[in-house]
Amino acid sequence: MGTLAIAGLGPGDEALVTPEVSAALAAATDIVGYAAYVARVRPRDGLTLHPSDNRVELQRASEALQLASEGRQVVVVSSGDPGVFAMASAVFEALELQPQWAKLDIRVLPGVTAMLAAAARAGAPLGHDFCAINLSDNLKPWPLIEKRLRLAAEADFAIAIYNPRSSSRPEAFGRALDILNRAGCGERIVIFARAVSAPDERIETVRLCESRPEMADMRTLVIVGNSATRRVGRWVYAPRHAR
Ligand code: SAH
Repeated sequence: MGTLAIAGLGPGDEALVTPEVSAALAAATDIVGYAAYVARVRPRDGLTLHPSDNRVELQRASEALQLASEGRQVVVVSSGDPGVFAMASAVFEALELQPQWAKLDIRVLPGVTAMLAAAARAGAPLGHDFCAINLSDNLKPWPLIEKRLRLAAEADFAIAIYNPRSSSRPEAFGRALDILNRAGCGERIVIFARAVSAPDERIETVRLCESRPEMADMRTLVIVGNSATRRVGRWVYAPRHAR
């Protein structure tokens, strides 16, 4: 019988791929995913790679389900965790469209998501309540993103920002910084964590009022601290108590 695993490859470093995901990759006959992530899987005899473009998530999910229904051992790969702004939701969306696939053996294999890898580098900025917001407006309207930023600031969450910048939306992150500045977050500590766990990793920590849009790119995860987030030596952490 075919199987479908939806696996997270972690933020980049091999050491952060879980043993469970490594075992699924070793047993796979087919790897499906965005080309940059498929390229992280070592080719071998008996393994077919199916790289695809970034924007075709539903099509890619259907292809994976189809292969599994033909008896293949399929692994859909995402970076980080597959359930965080990634392929797991797309697979379940495709499943809703084709109920005959519901009988397949499907498993979601977690991975180390970017915000956890980034937080660990900086210290413990997610040690108190936090939220995660994807700044891409490909799949949701911009006013909803603005509303979530405003309310997250008001609720004093630490905020992990995924997809802060792309060449197609260069202005989005600048607008997000404006919203947070206007919401009174200017003194908050912000961590720019670029290419975490890759050889070109760079971690930068500034105040929100000093943050500039060009400090982030598509390989950056931004963490905005809460109002109590502070430094101790070279570390940044959120105290465990809130007033
Ligand atoms: N499923 C992924 C997120 C996909 S969205 C996960 O769980 O991590 C892609 C965004 O994730 C990027 O724009 C960036 O904001 C963040 N990201 C992914 N890998 C990263 C890394 N190694 N360092 C910093 N940010 C990363």
